[in-house]
Amino acid sequence: MDLLKRSWAVVDLDAVAENIKTIKKLLDPQCMLMGVVKADGYGHGDKYISDELVRLGVNWFGVSNIDEAVSLRKQGIYHPILIFGHTPARFAKIINEYNITQTVYSIEYAKELAKACQKEDVIIDIHIKIDTGMSRLGFVVDDNHLNRTTEEIREIYHMPCFRPYGIFTHFAVADEKSQKSVDFTYHQFESFKNIISVLEKRGMTFKIKHCCNSAATICYPEMHMDMVRPGIITYGLSPSKELAGIIPLKPVMQLYSTITMVKQIDAGTTVSYGRIFTAKNKMKIATVAIGYADGIERELSNTAYMLVKGQKAKIVGRVCMDQLMLDVTDIKDVKIGDRVTIVGTDGENTISFEEMADIGNTVNYEKICIIGKRVPRIYTRENKEIGVVDYVRRNIDM
Ligand SMILES: *Cc1c(COP(=O)(O)O)cnc(C)c1O
Repeated sequence: MDLLKRSWAVVDLDAVAENIKTIKKLLDPQCMLMGVVKADGYGHGDKYISDELVRLGVNWFGVSNIDEAVSLRKQGIYHPILIFGHTPARFAKIINEYNITQTVYSIEYAKELAKACQKEDVIIDIHIKIDTGMSRLGFVVDDNHLNRTTEEIREIYHMPCFRPYGIFTHFAVADEKSQKSVDFTYHQFESFKNIISVLEKRGMTFKIKHCCNSAATICYPEMHMDMVRPGIITYGLSPSKELAGIIPLKPVMQLYSTITMVKQIDAGTTVSYGRIFTAKNKMKIATVAIGYADGIERELSNTAYMLVKGQKAKIVGRVCMDQLMLDVTDIKDVKIGDRVTIVGTDGENTISFEEMADIGNTVNYEKICIIGKRVPRIYTRENKEIGVVDYVRRNIDM
């Protein structure tokens, strides 16, 4: 790993395997498992993660857009792939060519896509998306819309350019345990089952019905239906604090950086932009080669801790674009080239994405996705490096 001595992420494929094993234990044997690898595998790198998921026996892949879908195909993933989001109709031919399943979520979109399919003379697989309470994408199925939605889906179902194999919905608060949220999730599920039954009565059946994200996969086994779509727990993180610890999960990603300078400063000296930190006493400061361009947000300034030689060191002053400074006054023998653990375990201490998320008042999901593309991902099995994904074109030999 010496060649990467700036900042790097270690992605532990054994942890993915353990998490998938844990998830499979929650499922009935006939329930299918979708590997959710949108946003470059939640920032972990979709290439190695997808290969690992194939090895672990997932049945489907879920992505956010056509580019992610084609990228999986080009690396040799032959499993069915569902695009959760919008694909411009002009890509109908590509959807067909790469054998990708597209979500259809409104009559307007269906018509546009159908027109493009006819023009290209192609037939594509689709899943119908039902909006049961997210108000994001999907056919609305409340009392006021049920009849119209039923008519619209009937029209789509019989469009010759579509093979309507699946139907799905998405939960808004499956990760919250309050009665109000539990009631809402049941309400969403009932609405979903209701529209399916209305459609079935009119002769429209769907082979794959699915609604569970990670939280629902854990908490609502009765809602698993034909397939579940757990994302965040695949990567070893909990969908919410409330659900932490319910099933054993192993975080897949650790994040590291390197100390590039160590210096003594006197009382009264200020550190970094804006001079928001002033040393009260003599201090020892370490400069670290990671910053907000790598995903270490400025919100962590003067607040977050990182681990140096197994001990906690606080960020002092503002996080810069490419660098930040740590207080290492009480840590012995700190020198240039030392490793800094930003997320992960070093000795007795562990720092999690959740802790980082708390400071910014956000969620672990966001923290893993924003790890910058300047940070190479190193893949390990049994603690041995088996591959690297480096997103940045390098102009020098390493
Ligand atoms: C992202 C996503 C998931 C996975 O959600 P997690 O909370 O990460 O499990 C499932 N379904 C859809 C439609 C999604 O967009």
